[in-house]
Amino acid sequence: MRIFLPFLLLFAVIACSEKPKKSPAVLAPGPITLVIHGGAGTIKRENMTPEKEKAYHAALNQALDSGYSVLERGGKSLEAVIAAIKVMENSPLFNAGKGAVFNSEGKNELDASIMDGSNLMAGAVAGVTTVKNPITAAYAVMTQSEHVMMIGDGAEKFAREQNLETVDPSYFFDSLRYNQWIKAKEADTDHAAHLIDPYIKDKKFGTVGAVALDQYGNIAAGTSTGGMTNKKYGRVGDAPIIGAGTYADNASCGVSATGWGEFFIRLAVAHDISSLVKYTDLSLDQAADSVVMKKVPKLGGDGGVIALDRQGNISMTFNTSGMYRGYIKKKGEGKTFIYRD
Ligand code: ASP
Repeated sequence: MRIFLPFLLLFAVIACSEKPKKSPAVLAPGPITLVIHGGAGTIKRENMTPEKEKAYHAALNQALDSGYSVLERGGKSLEAVIAAIKVMENSPLFNAGKGAVFNSEGKNELDASIMDGSNLMAGAVAGVTTVKNPITAAYAVMTQSEHVMMIGDGAEKFAREQNLETVDPSYFFDSLRYNQWIKAKEADTDHAAHLIDPYIKDKKFGTVGAVALDQYGNIAAGTSTGGMTNKKYGRVGDAPIIGAGTYADNASCGVSATGWGEFFIRLAVAHDISSLVKYTDLSLDQAADSVVMKKVPKLGGDGGVIALDRQGNISMTFNTSGMYRGYIKKKGEGKTFIYRD
């Protein structure tokens, strides 16, 4: 015992002198910031026309402006996330809301989720077919019910009770997406064929997402999607799963993902990034990279994330050739990107 005592003392000294990681929640918050994505994938210049490129940049900028104007007038990060996502849900360029992909029965089944980093409240809907903007239904579940997630008919009924805008399922029809589904059905054995996006003639996950930091220092994150082309009836991806496609915690960061959902669920990608930020010394970028660039591909998946912490640090990381994405920290100075370079 006498021999071990000095070692024990040494251990105790080391353990006590190790600095606890400073919680970001106690640091002064950074400037109001919004970061968005419109899906990752094999998005290559050679498959894109200048007109399409322009259209994507314009749609991303419109989403950034819409969300940022909320933050600028003192609105909450949750409102900004909804405003930005609604713009992308209403655009056929993205696989969310109008322009959503078709499932194996030729239907559009939509998923969405939202989370409030200030109190870890969250809401989600899955498999909805008549809610015009599924992100608003996710918000309603969070704020107007005692639940976190509602699905199918029940979620639709609840959305109607909440007076959310509903539409005939035909509203979501888009002929390019429909033809994409027909092709995917024909090539049923080839998973990649399910993902060939008719807008860019290549493989793409077109989910949309946003993460915002408001002037009160609160982070919110949201994600909305039509899922994956030719997915089986009732299939639910990562987008509406809190901790997989979406997560927000003021003490770490907010995350929204896009990619092959099954892998993102199995790795609890959004929560994993948040935990790495919270419990290790990794920076936001290092945390996002270690999950998206290492863990996801190692398991066989692909995709990307956007993330934002309370200091206003941003990460937009993806293991595909492109990801529609952008951020804004100053009025009129939104920056949008498509490719890796
Ligand atoms: N993550 C979505 C899903 O698996 C697909 C996407 O990102 O586009 O449903």
